[in-house]
Amino acid sequence: MTEKYQQLVSHLSEVHNINMAGAVLGWDQQTQMPPGGAEARAVQLATLSRIGHEMFTGDETARLLEDAAGELDGADYDSNEASMVRVVQQDYAELTKLPADFVAEQTRVTALAHEVWAKARANNDFKSFQSALERILELARQQADYLGYTDHPYDALLDQYERGITTAQVKEIFDGHKPQLVELIAAISHNADKVSDAVLHQEFDVDSQRQFATDVVTAYGFDFTRGRQDVAVHPFCTHFSHNDVRLTTRFHNDFLNPALFGLMHEAGHGMYEQGIGDSLEGTPLASGTSLGVHESQSRMWENLVGRSREFWTWALPRLKAIFPSQLGNVDLDTFYKAINKVQRSYIRVEADEATYNLHIMLRFELETAMLAGTLQPADLPEAWNELFESYFGVTPPTDTLGVLQDIHWSAGLMGYFPTYALGNLLSVQYFNKAIQQHPSIPDEIAEGKFDTLLNWLRENIHQHGRKFTSDELTRRVTGESIQSRDYIQYLQTKFGEIYGL
Ligand code: ZN
Repeated sequence: MTEKYQQLVSHLSEVHNINMAGAVLGWDQQTQMPPGGAEARAVQLATLSRIGHEMFTGDETARLLEDAAGELDGADYDSNEASMVRVVQQDYAELTKLPADFVAEQTRVTALAHEVWAKARANNDFKSFQSALERILELARQQADYLGYTDHPYDALLDQYERGITTAQVKEIFDGHKPQLVELIAAISHNADKVSDAVLHQEFDVDSQRQFATDVVTAYGFDFTRGRQDVAVHPFCTHFSHNDVRLTTRFHNDFLNPALFGLMHEAGHGMYEQGIGDSLEGTPLASGTSLGVHESQSRMWENLVGRSREFWTWALPRLKAIFPSQLGNVDLDTFYKAINKVQRSYIRVEADEATYNLHIMLRFELETAMLAGTLQPADLPEAWNELFESYFGVTPPTDTLGVLQDIHWSAGLMGYFPTYALGNLLSVQYFNKAIQQHPSIPDEIAEGKFDTLLNWLRENIHQHGRKFTSDELTRRVTGESIQSRDYIQYLQTKFGEIYGL
């Protein structure tokens, strides 16, 4: 009865398998591969990505999609079948808009730009990166033209990471909570001496750190029979199936935070992947719905759970048992404040909950201005520093600590940054809804029980994979679209208490 649909699914699953094989090679590259393997691996990855791209963008996909769409006409919007056809039609339209020559040129330019950027950052030399950035920007504008947009070229780029949201909507969301963030951070800076994080900067044995962090994410519900954890320089989470999810972590022997909160974060991504419904396995729908929603899951487990007083009521005695000489005399209040210390860091990846979204707003303003042609790359360092000063009240002393810090632009990733901030907002909206429906969740967290929260996420978010857009999902779960009200309220309450504001 659904023969055409089955043909579509088996074609797509072959494409999926090629992509997952590429993901295995990518994971291996960052966790196991000796440096000598780099050249061969680049060629192997390029071959797989070309085959996957050709298989997906070929005429056969179009024909099978059309046949299946005809066969399923009138199928329930929420069904796997209707969702598959709907989502894959959009993927197909997007990927076939970019000519192969253009994709190859973009790959070539960004591969070269990576080295140039890394050197420029190391030498605090923006000028040496400027012409590469100019070329990347030119290509980004072309990409937007190929993809198409109505209002702003940035719309086309943004849509690749957060389907359906527009530049104007992001601007409205950001403008809606920027003043409160600037005000909160200024208020905190007057009381900065109320919190010290010295207890976190001590010697902590790496194996013991690994054991503790692994125990924590196991308690959260990350399933190690369907996943594993390895070391990587730049931590990430990847998956080859919802039954094979890989987390990576980096360890510092003199600072507790990066590995502990990093693993909580990646496990949040990983539990999302592990929770995707069985019926979507091996299909293009078997992944998170958008980067923003994905980030909402990692942020929730890292911050809303992992940086809460309730969590440490349960976890601190356990951590003390592992590090008695470092933490034996530290009380809950001191530890809780230490892990929530707000610092006006120049570096986004080191930013705390209160300052994080401002780092993103700054990048969003600069990216959209560059795309619109109102800001030239030559003027970027100055524009960066001015904005930074107006948001944070301090100016980065070097471009290495400013405009050159992120890898994204050198990799051609424009339109990506906003998803981090959207994830922060969504994390609080979803968490509030879960607690509204299950008021026992905070008390359970204080007892080291996380299954009510995880099951709620599985049922309301994880199982659906990519079936719905971010906005469809958020409306279903919370009854409204993304908003900044909950996030600001959460920050004001939490940091007001910590800093006595
Ligand atoms: Zn993340």
